[in-house]
Amino acid sequence: MSKYIFVTGGVVSSVGKGISVASIGRILKSRDISVSVQKLDPYLNVDPGTMSPYQHGEVFVTQDGAETDLDLGHYERFIDVDLTSASNVTSGQIYSAVIAGERRGDYLGGTIQVIPHVTNEIKRRIREVAQLSQASVVIVEVGGTVGDIEGLPFLEAIRQMRNEEGRDNVLYIHVTFLPHIATTNELKTKPTQHSVNELRRIGIQPDIILCRSDYEIPQGLRDKISLFCDVDKDAVIPLVTAETIYEVPLVLEEANLGNIIIDRLGLDARSTDLTEWREMVAKLKAPKEPVTIALVGKYTELRDAYYSVREALCHAGLHHDRQVNILWVQSEDLQTDSNLNLLKTAQGIIIPGGFGYRGIEGMIIAASYARQNNIPYLGLCLGMQVMVIEFGRYALGSREVNSTEFDPDTPYPVIDLLPEQHTVTEMGGTMRLGTYPCHLVPTTHAAQAYREAVVYERHRHRFEFNNRFREPLEGKGLIPSGLSPDNRLVEIVEVKDHQWMIACQFHPEFKSRPNHPHPLFTSFVGAAKGTLVEGTQVTLPLTRD
Ligand code: GLN
Repeated sequence: MSKYIFVTGGVVSSVGKGISVASIGRILKSRDISVSVQKLDPYLNVDPGTMSPYQHGEVFVTQDGAETDLDLGHYERFIDVDLTSASNVTSGQIYSAVIAGERRGDYLGGTIQVIPHVTNEIKRRIREVAQLSQASVVIVEVGGTVGDIEGLPFLEAIRQMRNEEGRDNVLYIHVTFLPHIATTNELKTKPTQHSVNELRRIGIQPDIILCRSDYEIPQGLRDKISLFCDVDKDAVIPLVTAETIYEVPLVLEEANLGNIIIDRLGLDARSTDLTEWREMVAKLKAPKEPVTIALVGKYTELRDAYYSVREALCHAGLHHDRQVNILWVQSEDLQTDSNLNLLKTAQGIIIPGGFGYRGIEGMIIAASYARQNNIPYLGLCLGMQVMVIEFGRYALGSREVNSTEFDPDTPYPVIDLLPEQHTVTEMGGTMRLGTYPCHLVPTTHAAQAYREAVVYERHRHRFEFNNRFREPLEGKGLIPSGLSPDNRLVEIVEVKDHQWMIACQFHPEFKSRPNHPHPLFTSFVGAAKGTLVEGTQVTLPLTRD
């Protein structure tokens, strides 16, 4: 039978609750305890797939094709597990299920209410993760902060779980934030006291409080929180902002969180082994030679929109013992005065996923710059479509070459909808989603990078390479190097006679982990680190003869 850890957030959002949950998962896994994780999101969207990245950050795609919260990316990277759609539940899903049940007549004669119908559906989804994963511990993060109206049914459901599962099988952890007052140079505990009061008002007494802060937390303040919030002194755990997110499991383990959890839940565990993780973090923090990668996208003001891409680059850098510095380039800036200076210092260019026409012409300019200057280029999903459009404009000699997403009437639709997508009218969950196999064409750069014949990668897109243009473009040097098993879909393309210009229709960034960097990213960063651009050349001493 699984035990449950419920993690709630207090005071403010964006204090790293997701990273804390992922870190707790890593701590338990390092003691050989099997874990699974779930995020409960109180918003009414069925999934974040239809939300703008400005609202929500990245949409993370699981292997089974669910469009989920980016926290699932943290969980997968920290715990090294592949999660499924069961791991992200939203109010939208809960209400849809309850209302569909009501229409079917499941509750015939009854009045449908938040308690018990909505809360029962929430508890059913939580237990489903335990059942599917058979994990010893299921860690459940409740999104948002305590006090949000829409979060109440979730809090009520997790409150009921302690009674139903037994006191020794459920643990509540509250993650709060201690604000710093500059004039008096002190940290404040009052908001934490208020948010714990709010939790207790609805019947949840936290067992552990994680205090996030940008400053060291004096023992006196921890004692005060313990006293006011009725939590053991050793269970008030400071979590001061770390240099890298991957350090958080080490900080929490150092503060004895692992032992406290094991003890409270009565878990059978071996002693912790974080040796490999510790070595990885030490390597990450050590000074390294830099390699500069330009990330040309349209949501560059909001870096969370590209979270997994950033992490995948960091993991690949670690593999090469290099510090990957990302040069954030807003693609529209390249468009205005074709300001290529912005790309001058880039040893590699990456174009990530995206939707809509804004910024596309700037990305095409970046792809053209990479192709003509032999600069390593990695295109991810939209980045592949951009690369095909750019190559098509050059090869077919027409500026009208385009994707039908951006110009529905283009005479040269090198990227187009699949026939089966033409009849789709709903926006939510209707893309090509989740894992598909891809056969690599031997002797290509892509095959060399992967060193495998068949790979499985995660997709999230509507548009595809148009096979009508396969032959003419291949004739000019655009090589399809990854294909679907029936040869119908071009999944990877690369430019012949270029040192490294590869793009894929899928999202390899979702599969990169700090301990197994993704082969396309490692191969790309490997090529970039050997690329000399302005500023990276070594000055040789001049000799007389
Ligand atoms: N907009 C493109 C499509 O739908 C690319 C999507 C993406 O980059 N994820 O096909």
